[in-house]
Amino acid sequence: MAEASSIRPQSAASIEQWHFEADVVVAGYGIAGVSASIEAARAGADVLVLERTSGWGGAAALAGGFIYLGGGTPLQQALGFEDSPANMKSFMMAALGPGADEEKITDYCEGSVEHYNWLVDNGVPFKESFYGQPGWETPFDDGLMYSGGENSAPFNTIATPAPRGHVPQMSGKRTGEKGGGFMLMKPLIETAESLGVRAEYDMRVQRLVVDGDRVVGIIAKQYGKEVAVRARTGVVLATGSFAYNEAMIQSYAPRLIGRPGAAVEEHDGKAIQMAQALGADLAHMDATEVAFFGDPQLMIRGILVNGRGQRYVNEDTYPGRIGQETLLRNENQAYLIIDEASYEEGCAADSSTPFFRFQPKWVAETVEELESDMGLPEGTLQSTVEVYNRHAARGEDPVLGKKKEWVKPIGSPVAALDLRNFTAGFTLGGLRTSINSEVMHVSGEPIPGLFAAGRCTAGVCAGGYASGTSLGDGSFYGRRAGISAAKG
Ligand SMILES: Cc1cc2nc3c(=O)[nH]c(=O)nc-3n(C[C@H](O)[C@H](O)[C@H](O)COP(=O)(O)OP(=O)(O)OC[C@H]3O[C@@H](n4cnc5c(N)ncnc54)[C@H](O)[C@@H]3O)c2cc1C
Repeated sequence: MAEASSIRPQSAASIEQWHFEADVVVAGYGIAGVSASIEAARAGADVLVLERTSGWGGAAALAGGFIYLGGGTPLQQALGFEDSPANMKSFMMAALGPGADEEKITDYCEGSVEHYNWLVDNGVPFKESFYGQPGWETPFDDGLMYSGGENSAPFNTIATPAPRGHVPQMSGKRTGEKGGGFMLMKPLIETAESLGVRAEYDMRVQRLVVDGDRVVGIIAKQYGKEVAVRARTGVVLATGSFAYNEAMIQSYAPRLIGRPGAAVEEHDGKAIQMAQALGADLAHMDATEVAFFGDPQLMIRGILVNGRGQRYVNEDTYPGRIGQETLLRNENQAYLIIDEASYEEGCAADSSTPFFRFQPKWVAETVEELESDMGLPEGTLQSTVEVYNRHAARGEDPVLGKKKEWVKPIGSPVAALDLRNFTAGFTLGGLRTSINSEVMHVSGEPIPGLFAAGRCTAGVCAGGYASGTSLGDGSFYGRRAGISAAKG
């Protein structure tokens, strides 16, 4: 076959030989890909997965493993938390916007209990225990945690707080390297294999093959050779975000320039571009998840201030929200102001991220000295601490609504941790898809034969984020993509 490096779709008429064939061809064997494969196979399709690396898993297998589920899952109920699809929707619409896709969120919330049961039926283990400490993740094998700031301001006044971060049970976890995501992927891969799903590894998808308007295959590269793969009923794109495509980051989400995180290098945006070349519509390309390299057990016991010495976020919220507020709205400038007693208490508490407990950069007897040592304009930090302490003496935080249990006046000696530029993240925007995971053309019509899910699509997050929404919508809409692609 002639070598062609273009991302433009290739006409089926030009294909001399199909090297592989299946009913449904899935690009990418991460969470969206495996979920699509299982459902396509259950719908009776012969399924072939093309994976660029030498094994399954993608970012999903490295992930902490939060899956955002609610509406009254059996795990929520067993642990005594009340929730409903309507309550879950109220939170998601408030926290994941602006511009959150109401149809998708409604659909996701209504299907969430069934999706939990599907995961369990496919072997994903969840331990009946709740972890209630501040943290990025549970350091243990607990099954449920708050993962989006549901129980803190402003969301605790918008919807009834319910924890929705469902975590597959796994022992010996190491945050960032070996998380509960592995115990999500492993049973799902085993299920796919038991259903006869085939996989070709070291197979890098390059462009789509079309017959008229319809997508009928994929051109990929395996061991340096171009191969043509025919899809008799549908193609599913599931190759992840564009966090590692520098040109796309520059064009769409420039705050993330030089700081990709919680993604893998294979997330190069290729699937988005392949579909764009066919006229696919995009959504929320500027939306990003932002991780913040601070230990929540310390942050919650102090106050976070920006480069002007002003507080800007309630420190008891979801740490990813702290990350977004810091990077997107405070020029990536953050200092944690904390007194010695609180620092020591925070360092002694359980944490999945003890490596985010940095030494203070400045220590002083008074806030005035600290402010001067930090080089902040005179009076800025002093007035912030004075206002905070005045209300904290009554256990209140009327400025940002931090919960009473965490509000305590800042005493002496007092320190500042330098957390400037301590952020990284991945992209949330991508192909615009329907609730049946059809890839939408800019005309508003679905592109025949083309389906997508996971972080190459715009999912339930449009601006805000909650941990678990990526594995959540990736698996939920991955399933839909498989069902739709099997129908053709
Ligand atoms: C350390 C870490 C912790 C995280 N924690 C969480 C969490 O707790 N909860 C949560 O919801 N999210 C979490 N995430 C994010 C989440 O893992 C991803 O957003 C999610 O896996 C995206 O799903 P996906 O199916 O789109 O991509 P992936 O799961 O990454 O799968 C994409 C697959 O496509 C393959 N691929 C890429 N390009 C090609 C190509 N051209 N041809 C063929 N194959 C290709 C990749 O190799 C990969 O295997 C975390 C991520 C990391 C790294």
